[in-house]
Amino acid sequence: MKKSIEKIIQRPASPGMVGDGFRVFHYIPGTDISQRRISPFLVLDFNAAYDFGPSKKVKGVGVHPHKGFETVTIAYKGSVAHHDSAGNSGVIRPGDVQWMTAGSGILHKEYHEEEFSKQGGPFEMVQLWVNLPQKHKLTAPHYQAITASQMGKAQLPDNQGIVNVIAGNFNGISGPAATYTPANLLDIKLNRDGALVAKIPATHNTALLVINGSIAVNDEKTAEHSFVLFNNDGEDIELRALENSVILLLSGEPIQEPIASYGPFVMNTEEEIYEAIQEFQTGKFGVLS
Ligand code: MN
Repeated sequence: MKKSIEKIIQRPASPGMVGDGFRVFHYIPGTDISQRRISPFLVLDFNAAYDFGPSKKVKGVGVHPHKGFETVTIAYKGSVAHHDSAGNSGVIRPGDVQWMTAGSGILHKEYHEEEFSKQGGPFEMVQLWVNLPQKHKLTAPHYQAITASQMGKAQLPDNQGIVNVIAGNFNGISGPAATYTPANLLDIKLNRDGALVAKIPATHNTALLVINGSIAVNDEKTAEHSFVLFNNDGEDIELRALENSVILLLSGEPIQEPIASYGPFVMNTEEEIYEAIQEFQTGKFGVLS
């Protein structure tokens, strides 16, 4: 049975800046799709392709904390550098994903990679925040650097395209990212007229973002940058590309727990938020310069 469409929302009218390096459209929160409705996903920020121009100073966002969830950065164009207080650092390039589990608390900074910054050029990325269930909120911070070559690869027949499985699975092919609750994250590239059917459990909260191009979703046409939210009914999603297209499909088993959220901290109760602020202010998340 098909998973029916609950709603299609268009790209928010204007972007916001995160630091000076991320020009993002806030799909979640920022539209009428609540964090509860799309659990376990808490945030979806989309830096639609944008050329920041050549810069001697690297653009980005300076040292800031996170606690209680995971940040997942997917690079489509351009390169992003990362450093955190757990001693991890790395650069992600097109097709790569940085999966940071903030857990009990971390400091990090996110920048354009230096060479990319000097040259300029189109920059396109998505950052998701994925919630952690209460029993894993205080897990030790860690970091998964996942390169494009490590993704599960489902090549579609007749040159219709490819599905890069970041997390979960597609057609029996699994992705490398470890998740704390069942979730699928698929980077789908379809050539014009390419089509596929994705099978996602009915219980998962499920959505997709048209990163580039335009596609028909269950025969309904959607424009570039549309965000499609599905009902929790059937399992099958039919995609057909009206032109060469890139789609991010996300789904997850909802976490049925209260969400207490304040800026970069997402816990279950106000008391835990207060505690997170105290820990940050007293240097408990470590040191990063
Ligand atoms: Mn961050």
